[in-house]
Amino acid sequence: MPAHDTHLWRPYTQMKGAAPPLEAVRTHGTRIVLADGRELVDGIASWWTAVHGYNHPHIAAAVASQLAAMPHVMFGGLTHAPAETLARRLAALAPGDLDHVFFTDSGSVAVEVALKMAVQLWLNRGVTGRTRLLAFREGYHGDTLGAMAVCDPEEGMHRRFGAYLPTQIFCDLPRSRAATADLDATLARHAHALAAVIVEPLVQGAGGMRMHPPEVLATVARLARRHGLPLILDEIFTGFGRTGTLFACEQAEVVPDILCLSKALTGGTLALAATLATREVFEGFWSDDPAAALMHGPTFMANPLACAAANASLDLFAREPRLAQARAIGERLADGLAPLRGQPGIRDVRVLGAIGVVQFAAAPDLAALKARLIRRGTWVRPFGDILYLTPALTIGTADLDHLVASLCAVVRDPAGQDP
Ligand SMILES: *Cc1c(COP(=O)(O)O)cnc(C)c1O
Repeated sequence: MPAHDTHLWRPYTQMKGAAPPLEAVRTHGTRIVLADGRELVDGIASWWTAVHGYNHPHIAAAVASQLAAMPHVMFGGLTHAPAETLARRLAALAPGDLDHVFFTDSGSVAVEVALKMAVQLWLNRGVTGRTRLLAFREGYHGDTLGAMAVCDPEEGMHRRFGAYLPTQIFCDLPRSRAATADLDATLARHAHALAAVIVEPLVQGAGGMRMHPPEVLATVARLARRHGLPLILDEIFTGFGRTGTLFACEQAEVVPDILCLSKALTGGTLALAATLATREVFEGFWSDDPAAALMHGPTFMANPLACAAANASLDLFAREPRLAQARAIGERLADGLAPLRGQPGIRDVRVLGAIGVVQFAAAPDLAALKARLIRRGTWVRPFGDILYLTPALTIGTADLDHLVASLCAVVRDPAGQDP
């Protein structure tokens, strides 16, 4: 296709020579219906968002009723029940005293707000020079400037931006005694310049679906405390049941100072994100000085439709056994993917909560792999050297077994003798 014929600029895509995207016309349950009539079982719940499946009637009804009453008002100087209710509910669900909620419209911006909160917290306390972040290799925190700067410095797709990005400090996750000592020493060396530590709890998602045990997260939290640094947890991927608990940090009994949420917050219906802060962080901004206020405010902050969708999604978490469903999916994924372990060309097979990952010994031909899975009626998005499943937590056993069987079939038959 000549360059001038394409109006849409697609995500993470070299537009020249790009395979045309599939046209989706409808969704229902765990299915995506294509314009040509084909129906795909969604293995990744639209980038991990649609935890209740698509078009859940309870969420649809809440959004429709909010649409009739008030689709949007600005949040500067005005408030509304959907946001008030959602903030109260998130504060009640989050661990510890993460009682204060700042709404934004994407995960990256929730991370930006978290980073700004940490930096401004020190300034508000009269401490200058603490503007850097300690982050972990293989992490992913988003695509905006501050968020990119805390993504993995080598493997992250942002390396090429070079001097445009602020330089942050990176460590390996403390999985070993040596890595723990290194983290401790790095924190000590840079403590005077650091504003916070940021980490994805239990699973580093877009950086390669790498999992770590709760003890590793507990070590990060302990060392951050020891060096007097706020801990930011990015639960944008892990939040809302994906790891088998509502929030991944619960498994390590870690309470962060700042918590970022987005992806599954509205059950995959509308764009919304939230940055939660503890009372102590919030009090750092509570002042007679107007300049001590948190300096952020997106135009579509706390959009009422998105807040209504999120409230409806939380109703479903309260009413239906989502966490048990996540754990049951995990058991089925573990059983179903186990035969791939030790197969030629497979480096690792791992499962946590409703996340199943197959890691290849060498990066496969992703486009070919994806095309073969689509021919089998399966929608996935392999990246790097991994193929993974993160289905809706409501997925039925037939669709789940279909996903696992398709994945096993294409992985076991690298030559691609498909039907
Ligand atoms: C997806 C993701 C982000 C970025 O969220 P966007 O809504 O894409 O900006 C940040 N952190 C983590 C852990 C994510 O998975």
